[in-house]
Amino acid sequence: MKYLIIANWKCNPSSLRQSKQLFSVYKKQMRSCKNINLVVCPPFIFISQLKEKFKNIFLGSQDCFYKEGAFTGEVSSQMIKSFDLNYVIIGHSERRNIFHETDEEINKKIKDVLDYKMNPILCVGENKKQRDDGETFEVIKRQIGEGLNKINRDRIKNIIIAYEPIWAIGTGESAEADKMQEVKIFIKKFINNKYGAKTSQLIKVIYGGSVDSNNICSYLSTSQMDGVLVGGASLKKDEFSKILKKVNSL
Ligand code: PEP
Repeated sequence: MKYLIIANWKCNPSSLRQSKQLFSVYKKQMRSCKNINLVVCPPFIFISQLKEKFKNIFLGSQDCFYKEGAFTGEVSSQMIKSFDLNYVIIGHSERRNIFHETDEEINKKIKDVLDYKMNPILCVGENKKQRDDGETFEVIKRQIGEGLNKINRDRIKNIIIAYEPIWAIGTGESAEADKMQEVKIFIKKFINNKYGAKTSQLIKVIYGGSVDSNNICSYLSTSQMDGVLVGGASLKKDEFSKILKKVNSL
């Protein structure tokens, strides 16, 4: 089995030169990694310059739009597909909270990405208040249920679910690995009840939230996640190289 590692660069780094430098460190490190599929999601403006075939490294998009035409600032799924990209992050908490994306819009984006035969990475997760109020499972259930609304069983298997508790994103407050395993089991059961055991087995569930070289192994071993989504640490050359090395040693 190969672990799926998604590097989400968000709105970083500041220049093409820096993005090329970072990418070349990834390539060097990935030469010795046998058990990783790495998906790098840079800002759109850098993608064409990083686009070169490399074993086990794929480029992905941080978002998409489900229409073309008079939508200033947007990039459509069809455009993303035309660049041979296969992965699209959808419903990241920053999109939901800063740009007020709704579950309904997220559902439209997922359907569109599937129409273009790409893999959507659906991000779900509760905020601190919801966690403190014991609403974690309820929030996840709603976000997955509405995000996947009216998508049939055959199409669902290409979806990756990224559980990203908002209180752990970019805060350094990493989640406890055994609690994350409970969440993974909950997501798998939810998919099982809705779409059946076979589909549930095929769907990958990954974790995101302050992943670094010290905690990565616990998410993959103790929590039994199929991979991780890394934000901040994916921009630090040495730290990200350490993460890849640790995963390669599993
Ligand atoms: C993210 O961007 O989804 C994320 C998990 O960020 P970080 O690793 O910085 O918490």
